[in-house]
Amino acid sequence: PRIRRLEESVVNRIAAGEVIQRPSSAVKELVENSIDAGASTVSVTVKDGGLKLIQVSDDGHGIRCEDLPILCERHTTSKLSAYEDLQTIKSMGFRGEALASMTYVGHVTVTTITEGQLHGYRVSYRDGVMENDPKPCAAVKGTQVMVENLFYNMVARRKTLQNSNDDYPKIVDFISRFAVHHINVNFSCRKHGANRADVHSGSTSSRLDAIRNVYGASVVRDLMEIQVSDENAVDEIFKMDGFISNANYVAKKTTMILFINDRLVDCTSLKRATEFVYSAILPQASKPFIYMSINLPPEHVDVNIHPTKKEVSLLNQERIIEKIKDAIEEKLMNCNNTRIFQTQALNSSALTQANTRKDKGTEVSTPTGEKSQKIPVSQMVRTDPRDPSGRLHTYWQGQTSNLEKKSGLVAVRNIVRSRRNPKDAGDLSSRHELVTEIDYNLHPGLFDIVKNCTYVGVADEVFALIQHNTLLYLVNVVNVSKELMYQQALCRFGNFNAIQLSEPAPLLELLTMALKDDESMSDVNEKEKLEIAEVNTEILKENAEMINEYFSIHIDQGGNLTRLPVVLDQYTPDMDRLPEFMLTLGNDIAWDVEKECFRTAAAAIGNFYALHPPILPNPSGKGIRLYKKNKDSMESAGQADNDLTSTDEDDIDQELLAEAEAAWAQREWTIQHVLFPSMRLFLKPPKSMATDGTFVQIASLDKLYKIFERC
Ligand code: ADP
Ligand code: MG
Repeated sequence: PRIRRLEESVVNRIAAGEVIQRPSSAVKELVENSIDAGASTVSVTVKDGGLKLIQVSDDGHGIRCEDLPILCERHTTSKLSAYEDLQTIKSMGFRGEALASMTYVGHVTVTTITEGQLHGYRVSYRDGVMENDPKPCAAVKGTQVMVENLFYNMVARRKTLQNSNDDYPKIVDFISRFAVHHINVNFSCRKHGANRADVHSGSTSSRLDAIRNVYGASVVRDLMEIQVSDENAVDEIFKMDGFISNANYVAKKTTMILFINDRLVDCTSLKRATEFVYSAILPQASKPFIYMSINLPPEHVDVNIHPTKKEVSLLNQERIIEKIKDAIEEKLMNCNNTRIFQTQALNSSALTQANTRKDKGTEVSTPTGEKSQKIPVSQMVRTDPRDPSGRLHTYWQGQTSNLEKKSGLVAVRNIVRSRRNPKDAGDLSSRHELVTEIDYNLHPGLFDIVKNCTYVGVADEVFALIQHNTLLYLVNVVNVSKELMYQQALCRFGNFNAIQLSEPAPLLELLTMALKDDESMSDVNEKEKLEIAEVNTEILKENAEMINEYFSIHIDQGGNLTRLPVVLDQYTPDMDRLPEFMLTLGNDIAWDVEKECFRTAAAAIGNFYALHPPILPNPSGKGIRLYKKNKDSMESAGQADNDLTSTDEDDIDQELLAEAEAAWAQREWTIQHVLFPSMRLFLKPPKSMATDGTFVQIASLDKLYKIFERC
């Protein structure tokens, strides 16, 4: 077939379809024009989701009468004259395409008056040109742009839009976002004919007031201010300020309002990074509300990478995101009171240890923290465990995850002080013997490693990587946590704080559940299982007083479990394992022999509280394929309205994925911030761990150095 040159009107209409994808994109362009015109009031009226009518009125500087003839031609703008201006452009528009595009896909009428004029002008446009000469008319300050019958000439798109959900919520969402950022502009948005506006921001001088006016007081109550700046660095300057939600803010969806140099944009990687931090630190509040305004020198931002300027590209994007992520992380740790208290306690003691310890021969830090030059390079190691550089998770985000089974049981982190007098329990000689055994079994080499190691990151579901001097080790997280919990159970013996369950859990049900899951019991029938459960319930009830007194496992008169001990501060065991734990207590404790009783009970606690790998599939491994929706059907639907599906929905069941990722992130966080700091302080590794695969040396820096030196 012959190649022909397309007619200009066809070209324009195709281009228009790209700039004005849907009614909400037209609203965004019009509102941006109003803001560019210096308006302090912007009112939006929408009929039929924007398909019938979009009307945006402002009180900005207006448009000169002599400019009206070319106002709606493509590439006519008052904001840019040379390409170089793009580097420093501050206005939101610059392409001179928005109004033109609207005239190719709808009927546009503009009414405007500039300052000092006695009357305004009204003029209608179609396909880029005026339909008539501007008519003088009465007008109030500013400009009113009316777009009617959007997509009247694009049958397919109009149909899809009519069939899909109305665009009005999207429009409201846009206006709300603008209102939060441009706090001194009074925005309102209503449906045509409605008395009440759905957004009414009122101009204010405080950001929080603006958020309150738009999103409600309940959101504002849970917000914290955050600021990050990087002005000291030589080669980059950026500033971010904003508000982020705290642990109490619970929502189904993340709200991320991001302005970069006053442009409303999306930044998927920043959003992901933020969500990652939340799900790691505050899994219950992992769908945050975020408002961020980032300012960079204009020459660091490329605003011209997207036709509707929905995205921008930044210089040093990774560094900026990393900085912001760190700041959020710090903020969230501070907002969680229990955590900050605990973390500080751990950190300061870890610090004292770091300071007092003597590094035989390999002292690399001078008191001022500078690296001493005498150390051969092959032996230089990072010795400050608090230095995050080199930790795996900085390189590697949201990798493997595990699924947490939904459990009806919730442990409320409502820590209850034990009422008992700790002294008498502490004197029990068999408990004393067990503690001495731990000391006796201590492996000094491993002890040194645990005390002075640097946490590197998780290696897989079971192993974590640590570095000690010039050696790299894999550590079995399950084994060490089990041992740590066992030792802690004996140390805190009779002196536990307690975790109160949100609802008392009936022992009989827990035990029945455990027996059902127990594979070794598969040939036992239901009736017998029930009997076993009943017997065990009785045993536990009989010994309730003792286990409450020594281990703070509280069983009430009705045979319900109500409390569990805090074995490690900041740590709640996986409640999915509670039934199994109860069965072990009922079945495996030697109740009659004091020492064995304590040992087996502490071991059961150790096993329950240990950081076991999760039972469910790993979302970033093959397991996640299970959650993919039928891809083919998604695709064929997507093709029909290719340009309309702007939401970032993909083919994975987002809710399950998010839950899995949150669970994984939580586990990783716990390993790094709870398990390892506590190990450093409390764990006395037994000799057996040197040989049973708990600690495996995998690399030595000296040897690696020899290899790399040749390269
Ligand atoms: P751009 O915003 O990229 O310049 P538009 O097509 O959106 O292109 O607008 C073209 C021009 O029309 C603008 O440069 C501006 O001078 C003028 N204009 C549009 N809307 C308004 C408004 N609400 N108030 C004043 N001037 C406006
Ligand atoms: Mg514009």
